[in-house]
Order: sequence, then C-alpha cells, then structure tokens
Amino acid sequence: MQVTEVDITQKISGCARCGVLFKYRPSKKYCSANCRKRANEPKQNSFSSKKVRHENERRLERAKWLGIEYYRTQPRFRFSFIYELIEQAIRLNDKQLIAILTNFKMLNAHPRHDPKFFPTKNHSDQNIAQIAQQFSLLVHERPIKIYISEQRKIKKASE
Ligand SMILES: [Zn+2]
Repeated sequence: MQVTEVDITQKISGCARCGVLFKYRPSKKYCSANCRKRANEPKQNSFSSKKVRHENERRLERAKWLGIEYYRTQPRFRFSFIYELIEQAIRLNDKQLIAILTNFKMLNAHPRHDPKFFPTKNHSDQNIAQIAQQFSLLVHERPIKIYISEQRKIKKASE
C-alpha cells in the first residue's frame, strides 16, 4: 500500500481545545480528559462569571487587609481583635466576612505555594481564615465554620 501525504497528516490530530498534537483516532477530539472536560464546560466569560471573579478579588483584598490589621495589632490585643471580628460577622450577617473566615482555599493555603492568600511575605504569618480557625478551635472548641453556622441559627431563631 502506498502511503500518501494525506494519510500521514491524517495520522496526527490537534486537540480542539489547546492544539496539542496527538495520534489520530476517529472519535478523539481532545488531547486529554482534562481538555475534554474544560471544553464542555459552559463558557466562563459570561457576565455572571465576571461578577464572580470581581467578588473573589474584592474578598481576597479584604482578607489581606484583615490579615495586615491583625498583625498590626499589638499581640496582647489580637485575641480580642479576632474574637470581635468573628462576632461582628455573625451579628451583622456580613456574608463577605463569613465567606472569608470560612474560606476553604485560604484555610488550606500554604504560604510558599499560595502567597496570594497571605497578608504578608513572612512565611510564619497566617491568613485571617487560619487565624480564625485556630481561635475557634481553641476558644469555641469547634471549627469556625461550625461555630458560625450554629450562631447564625441561634440568631435567626431569636429574630
Ligand atoms: Zn488539549
């Protein structure tokens, strides 16, 4: 059998999402399961996702500022700083603040790998979600997320 140019080009295909080349297979459109998944997700450039992104940015910005404020506070007043912050989030039903204090990504962030989640470049410093978590475990003897949701339920019931 003679191999023509067409045959050769048909043996290679490009990922429909990222363009990476791979060996041609009739049903294969994407280079990887990841690209297939990403390509089939709804487009993220819509109005709503832009809004979500802005909200995330604002939240991150506020989280950083809270962390800076915390470390600016004299050590002996830090306990009441974080205590007040948590109680204020519940009292004012400040959803942004609650989202910050209970943020899973921030809580599990590593200062070296995820510096954007940290208020300072000092690697021994924690972010405000980690500080709140530590406080809650110590003082309320439960994770911050549980404590806040319990307190919100109590508050709602009393209104
Ligand atoms: Zn791909």
